[in-house]
Amino acid sequence: MAVAREALDRLVRDVQDFPEPGIVFKDIMPLLADHDGFRAVVLALAESGRDESGEVVVDKVIGMEARGFLVGAPVALALGAGFAPVRKAGKLPGPTHAVSYDLEYGTATLELHEDAVTPGDRVLLVDDVLATGGTARATADLVRRCGGTVVGVAVLMELGFLAGRDRLGDLAVDSLAVV
Ligand code: AMP
Repeated sequence: MAVAREALDRLVRDVQDFPEPGIVFKDIMPLLADHDGFRAVVLALAESGRDESGEVVVDKVIGMEARGFLVGAPVALALGAGFAPVRKAGKLPGPTHAVSYDLEYGTATLELHEDAVTPGDRVLLVDDVLATGGTARATADLVRRCGGTVVGVAVLMELGFLAGRDRLGDLAVDSLAVV
């Protein structure tokens, strides 16, 4: 965990006023480009899919578009779990469930294939940043519509000043860093 935190401190770049004025964008591309750093954060996130004895307690990992794909898929592999993407409206080819939600900047609709989660699946949500919590909340709704149970949310960073976890009710939120 200490290695993962150090990697986040060193390899996540703050980009001022992106994608619009007033937003400090957390750019994880330097982290992804560093094998040791990327590996450390993936293994640390995967801990959220295990119980105290180290046993895997999730069947599926869901990553939210788009950087949730980049961190969620390797977390799924590390856990021996399946992976499914939650995508913006109109991107998934099959029948989907859809939920509209608020972003830190703008609004959007997210979709999940109806058959991406099997009823009874235990699901871990993975993303790079938890901001207002709207994306994670909408994704949790989508999982429940499929009949799955959300085990928790695991993110690299939580923007503490936005208090996103307060919008997630009883959902367990693990963040490697609060920034
Ligand atoms: P939210 O729904 O407000 O919690 O926003 C989380 C989603 O928006 C995640 O998928 C993030 O990738 C993205 N996001 C929000 N704020 C930022 C930020 N400051 N830097 C990078 N990504 C962000």
